[in-house]
Amino acid sequence: MERDKADAVSYCGLYCGACPSVHRGSCQGCRSEDKSQRRISKWSCNIRNCCINEKNVQYCGACSEYPCPTILKLINSHKGKPKIHYRHEIPNNMKQLNEIGVDKWAAEQEKLWKCPDCGDLIIFYNYECVSCGTSHDPQEDKNKGGK
Ligand SMILES: [Zn+2]
Repeated sequence: MERDKADAVSYCGLYCGACPSVHRGSCQGCRSEDKSQRRISKWSCNIRNCCINEKNVQYCGACSEYPCPTILKLINSHKGKPKIHYRHEIPNNMKQLNEIGVDKWAAEQEKLWKCPDCGDLIIFYNYECVSCGTSHDPQEDKNKGGK
């Protein structure tokens, strides 16, 4: 059975599908509740817990208090670190999520994080294709082409 596309969207508005941990199989994505997976940092994530247990929202941007200090801390915590710049897209991502919904957004992200050369996956942090090693930063290209 194919997983729901929305399962690839984190509560903080990122595309889990482009995360190296998910690619390696050590993590099943932020929405998974499977306690057997190796990457366990999600169980103590403020944002995840807030969305699920306190606000009961599908993602941060759907909350009436967005942007709250908790999400702003995440957005601002890695300013100036190029490897983490995908997190700076969070405000944009939230806007798009609100506009087109989680399923459609996940489908667009899936296309966005594809290698222009071989069609395999581009991942966060090093912005390289997992198959052919092509360097590609979809968000940078998007910003350059900007509107
Ligand atoms: Zn490739």
